[in-house]
Amino acid sequence: QTEHVLMDETAIRRALTRIAHEILERNKGFENCMLIGIRTRGIHLAARVAERIREIEGVPVPVGEVDVTRYRDDRSKAAGGGEDAAAAESVPDQLEIRNKKLILFDDVLYTGRTVRAAMDALMDLGRPQMIQLAVLVDRGHRELPIRPDYVGKNIPTSRLENIDVELKEVDGIDQVVITGQ
Ligand code: 5GP
Ligand code: MG
Repeated sequence: QTEHVLMDETAIRRALTRIAHEILERNKGFENCMLIGIRTRGIHLAARVAERIREIEGVPVPVGEVDVTRYRDDRSKAAGGGEDAAAAESVPDQLEIRNKKLILFDDVLYTGRTVRAAMDALMDLGRPQMIQLAVLVDRGHRELPIRPDYVGKNIPTSRLENIDVELKEVDGIDQVVITGQ
C-alpha cells in the first residue's frame, strides 16, 4: 500500500482561488449564478470558492447543496427512497434555481454518475439556465459524456487507486492523497 500527497494546503488554496477567477471570467461576473455543492465535501469546496468570489467581486454569492446519495442509477433503489426522496434532500427550492446559472461542485469526478444524478435532482426542481461543473480532482474513467468546466487538478488513476480528499472542515487537514497498491 503506497501513499502520496498530491496536493497540500497551499496547492488546494491556489486551485480554489484560480477556479473562483475562472468562474468570474467565464460568466463575466457572477450575475444570476449560484454555487451548488454535492453532499459533504463538495459543499465545503463551494463555500470556500463562494468566499473567494465575495472577496474578489464584492457581491453576494448564493450557495446551495444537493445530496444525491440515493439518486445514483447504479445503487439499489430498495435501499433508499428512490428519486422523490433524493429530490427532497436537495436544499435549493424551485424559485431559487429557475433560470439561474448553477455551478456544481464535487471533490472527485470519476465515472460521472454522481454528477448526472445531481443534474437530475436539480432539473426536477426547476429549469436552470445552465449547469457548469467544478471539481477539485478529475481522476478519469468516465462512463458518461460529462466533462468538468473547472478542475483543480487532473490526476490520472488506475481503478484500483483511491483519492483521499481531506478538508479542514471535515478532516482537520487540507490535503489530497493517492493511495494504491
Ligand atoms: P462518480 O459518480 O463520478 O463515479 O464518482 C464521484 C463521486 O464519488 C464523488 O462524489 C466523489 O466524492 C466519489 N468518489 C469517486 N471516486 C473517488 C475517489 O477516488 N476518492 C474520493 N474521495 N471520492 C471519490
Ligand atoms: Mg462525494
